[in-house]
Amino acid sequence: MTVEQVKGALYGVAIGDALGVPAEFKTREFMEENPVTDFEGFKIHNQPPGTFSDDASLTFCLAESLCTGYDLLDMADRFVRWQTKGYWGAHGKVFDIGNTTYRAISRLKRGVQPELAGDFEEENNGNGSLMRILPLVFYTKDLDLEARYDVVKDVSSMTHGHIRAVIACFYYLEFALLLLSGKDKFEAYEKAAKNVNQLLRKKAVNEKEIALYDPILADDINSYPPQRIRSSGYVVDTLLASVWSFISTENYSEATLKAVNLGYDTDTAGAVTGGIAGLYYGVNGIPEKWKREIARSEDIDELGLRLFNMRSLQ
Ligand SMILES: [Mg+2]
Repeated sequence: MTVEQVKGALYGVAIGDALGVPAEFKTREFMEENPVTDFEGFKIHNQPPGTFSDDASLTFCLAESLCTGYDLLDMADRFVRWQTKGYWGAHGKVFDIGNTTYRAISRLKRGVQPELAGDFEEENNGNGSLMRILPLVFYTKDLDLEARYDVVKDVSSMTHGHIRAVIACFYYLEFALLLLSGKDKFEAYEKAAKNVNQLLRKKAVNEKEIALYDPILADDINSYPPQRIRSSGYVVDTLLASVWSFISTENYSEATLKAVNLGYDTDTAGAVTGGIAGLYYGVNGIPEKWKREIARSEDIDELGLRLFNMRSLQ
C-alpha cells in the first residue's frame, strides 16, 4: 500500500462526486448531448464548481474515524455531526441526503446500536452505503476473508442493512483490496469474483441475491454495451455501472467521466467509480486541475496522509 493509493482513493471519490453533482437526475439522452467534461457550477443543487456531496462527506467521516482505530460508535458520531453540523461538508453545509441515510442517522442520533441503525427492507437498497465505504479497505486489508465480510456487513448496516447492499459493499472492497495489492485490474476482476462467490456460498446467502450480481460474479461485464448498463440510485445498478466504467477505460478521468455521463445518479456513479480508479491509477493519475479545484483540497490531502500513516504503523 502506498500513500499515492490512499490519497488517490479519497481524491478519487470527491472529484467523481463533484463532477456528477451538477448533472444529478439528468437522463442518458441529455448527457449524450451535453456531456460533463469538467467541474461545472450551480445547476441542479446550486453549488459552486468542485463541490462534493454526501458521498464524499460520509467517506471522509469514515476515513477520519479509521485514523483513530475501528470503532462503530465513533463512525456513528461523525455521521451525526455531518448531518447536524455539516462536518466534512464541502462548504460546511449539507445540501443532499438520501432518505434511507437520513432515517438511519436519525436513529444513530437517538443512540440506536450502529450495526442495527440502517433499514433492512428490500426496498431500501439504494447506493447510500456503497458510496461511502471505500476507506474501510485500508482497515480490512489485514483481516481474512470472513472477517472482512463481517466488518463490511456491520459498516454497511449502519445505514443499509439488507444483504443486497452488503454484497455490493463487500464486492467493491474485495475488488479494491486486490487493486491495492498491486494486481492488474483484469486479474483483480477475476479474483474478486472468485473470492466473493466463495464467501457468499459459505455463508449460504440466498442464490437469488447472488444472481443479481451475475454480470460481475459470473460474466465479463467489460464486453457489455452501454445499453445494458443502468445508472439509477439502486445499489446493484451503481456497482455494475462503476465496475464497467472503470474496467473499460484507461485512466482516471476517462473512467469517472464515463460513469457520470451515464446519467441519473451521476454523483454517486462518479464517486464509486472515481474511488477505485483513484486507488488504482494513484493520486498522480488524477488531473492536477481537479485536485486543485476540488473543495477542501488541502484537507483531503492531509486526511490521506494521516490515514496512510495510521495504517503503516500496524
Ligand atoms: Mg450525493
